[in-house]
Amino acid sequence: MQRAGKGRTPRRPKKPSNIEKDPVGVYCRIRPLGGEDEECCVEMISSSTIQLHAPDGLKANRNGEYKETQYCFKKVFGIKTTQIELFEDVAKTLIEDLIHCKNGLLFTYGVTGSGKTYTMTGSPGEGGLLPRSLDMLFNSIGPFQAKRFVFKPDEKNGIEVQNQLDALLERQKRDSQLSVPKTPSSRQRVDPEFADMINPDQACKFEGVDEDCCYSVFVSYIEIYNNYIYDLLEDAPFDPIRPKPPQSKILREDQNHNMYVAGCTEVEVKSTEEAFEVFWKGQKKRRIANTELNRESSRSHSVFTVKLAQAPLDADGDHILQDKSQVNVSQLCLVDLAGSERTNRTRAEGSRLREAGNINQSLMTLRTCMEVLRENQMCGTNRMVPYRDSKVTHLFKNYFDGEGKVRMVVCVNPKAEDYEETLLVMRFAEMTQEVEVARPVDRPICGLTPGRRQRNQAFKDELSRRLEERGGPVNGDPVQLNQLIESLPPLPPCELSDPSDDQTLPRLMEVLERRYRIRQKMTEQFNQTANNMKFTLQQFESQFSSKENVLHDQRSKLGEKDKVITNQRTEIERLEKKSKTLEYKIDILQKTTEMYEQDKRSLQQELESREQRLQKELAERRRMEQRMQGVVTDTKLKWERECERRVNAKQLELQNKLWVKDEKLKQLKAIVTENGGASGGPTEPPRKPERPSRERDRNVAQKSSASPTPLSTVPPVHPMHRRSHSAGGEKWVDHKPASNLDLDTVMQPIIPNAIKVSTPNEKALSKCHRYVLRHQELASDGEIETKLIKGNVFKTRGGGQAVEFTDIETLKQEGPTAPSRKRRSGSGEGPAQADDIENRPPVANISSSHGYQKRRRP
Ligand code: ADP
Ligand code: MG
Repeated sequence: MQRAGKGRTPRRPKKPSNIEKDPVGVYCRIRPLGGEDEECCVEMISSSTIQLHAPDGLKANRNGEYKETQYCFKKVFGIKTTQIELFEDVAKTLIEDLIHCKNGLLFTYGVTGSGKTYTMTGSPGEGGLLPRSLDMLFNSIGPFQAKRFVFKPDEKNGIEVQNQLDALLERQKRDSQLSVPKTPSSRQRVDPEFADMINPDQACKFEGVDEDCCYSVFVSYIEIYNNYIYDLLEDAPFDPIRPKPPQSKILREDQNHNMYVAGCTEVEVKSTEEAFEVFWKGQKKRRIANTELNRESSRSHSVFTVKLAQAPLDADGDHILQDKSQVNVSQLCLVDLAGSERTNRTRAEGSRLREAGNINQSLMTLRTCMEVLRENQMCGTNRMVPYRDSKVTHLFKNYFDGEGKVRMVVCVNPKAEDYEETLLVMRFAEMTQEVEVARPVDRPICGLTPGRRQRNQAFKDELSRRLEERGGPVNGDPVQLNQLIESLPPLPPCELSDPSDDQTLPRLMEVLERRYRIRQKMTEQFNQTANNMKFTLQQFESQFSSKENVLHDQRSKLGEKDKVITNQRTEIERLEKKSKTLEYKIDILQKTTEMYEQDKRSLQQELESREQRLQKELAERRRMEQRMQGVVTDTKLKWERECERRVNAKQLELQNKLWVKDEKLKQLKAIVTENGGASGGPTEPPRKPERPSRERDRNVAQKSSASPTPLSTVPPVHPMHRRSHSAGGEKWVDHKPASNLDLDTVMQPIIPNAIKVSTPNEKALSKCHRYVLRHQELASDGEIETKLIKGNVFKTRGGGQAVEFTDIETLKQEGPTAPSRKRRSGSGEGPAQADDIENRPPVANISSSHGYQKRRRP
């Protein structure tokens, strides 16, 4: 017999000082009130706090003192909390831990009727934590479960692993023992009362299952009543005549110092339904016992244990590794504790009273254990924890001083009657939260490559596919195998009726030897076939690998070709793109060209029109030039003639002047000769020199013209005559500007009958016929030059006066600053006078064409 594997249920701590610890997780669930008119004493004030109000009666008893207390928990679930919500918060991680080889303890605590059983078990459609935990476990490990009897409890709280064949034989044995052959369980076979606890759409599953392991689930169900442990799954033959009271079980400690119920039935279950079935079986038995023995079910603790054994698959991924040290066992205990009410409330008598006392005793022990634990942990004391005082605490001892996760759901009925009990429950629950439990550590990894199961499965699938293709057997049919075993010689009846029976054993030996021989032959055959198969497989393998090589080559070639194709495709795409852009460019260029051509046409048209205009203009210009040339020659001729005429006129004028001078000289000569000869009578004026004939003609012509030149009309005047004449009968306007200097010389012209004015006025001019202006200016030699500018006054056609200048006389005299010149004048007056007086004829041109005319408006 194999020795126990690593039965680590629950383990002792390894004593390192820095173990990580977690507090006991305490949750509170408030159930709804039974009736609407009932008084409510519990109020949920936050997701983690509840408040207890003392009921009215109680308040009156305490002199109206209002008392309310608050309690905090990890989480509080109100009356509307559904079973699935509770499960997800409280139990889901415990299942995940179980699959990860970590232990867990989950119990419900509270007074009777507070909903402990409802929370743990639930009702149809409203499955509690237990059915949901089983469901999640099987949903997660379902396809990875080992065949029945591969894992085998060893009655010492351990689980061993046995080979496939032994497991098969054991299965056969069990099947032959059962009167009715067992078929896989189904929901139809489950007690209808408990069927459909969970809606299929609420199914949970853990995805982190190690697929390279094989799993088996074992369940046990015990009841602790009156500090006795009863196995609810035990198959005791029922004797209706002398019914035996159920035998209680004892607690033992295994080699790892874990507590276990000795001889407790552990049933291997393969599905949720099967596990349910086992659970209901135990439940039924509990009910029957309670009825038969007149027991109060609320006073018993029930413990449903789910044990999960797991072992890694071998390197092939086909069989479980036959290594005991690799078997891991973890367990989850689901405990529905008895009601926590006090004895007096149960109104029990006699034996009942003793029971109630015991029940309370076990809960009291639980309470004490928690208190001592908390004290030890918080104060560092080392008080002994009284686990052994009750079966419940003794059984779970390892959870508190070992490792694992502990969770408690405190159930509360908010009705007034339960108030005082509830207070005690709350205090215990709050205190329990302060107890810490060592956090379970992760199991070591087995060291084999992961993914073995999948690879093996893929291989098997492929093999069966190929065999199917060849028309061979598809699978190792279990029916075939059974037939094979049945074909072996049957075992003779082996009951020994007599100690001297010497026939049965030899017969049995003979049959067994025959069987052994057949088996050996079959093994040989099998080995031979296996070898053949191996050889064929190897051949296949080599063929396959060479084919694979070829395939690989072809694939690589194909890949290269693919690459070339993709390259060319991209090249084509690139070229297409390029051609598109070029087409676009061409389009644009064509449009531009059209535009330019249009421009060119219009410009050419303009050029032509401009050229035409230029031609026209050129012709016009030529014509103009010709015309201008004609005009220029005309004008030139005219001007030549004019110039000639003017030159002639000038010549004539100069000749006239010359003539006048000559005349003067002659007159002077005559005067000189007259004075020098006889009396001083006036001499006849010398004969006038002949004037040029053309001048004469001119004068005639000028006299007939509209504006005769005044100079030319003035006859050459003899100064003496003229002066007398001017001093005679004619009236003069003598204009002497105020700025003139008074020179006091004898050469002052004296004009009788003259009206002297400093500025000429119309009145003076209207009375006179002649006008003289005395004009002084400084000559270049420093002498003052006085000019007498004379003219005729005549009436204009408009009724005004006009002056026409006819003569200029210049008198030169030294300025008052040069007296020497003044002295000189006394000695030679005559010549000096003759020198100074100069009658100069006015310039004919100026007086004729630009003659200064002083005009006065009438
Ligand atoms: P306990 O096991 O603590 O004695 P039970 O679980 O048997 O209490 O509950 C007593 C009654 O109250 C049952 O009929 C149950 O259906 C009901 N009950 C308890 N908790 C709830 C709840 N949360 N919602 C609805 N009904 C509940
Ligand atoms: Mg109950």
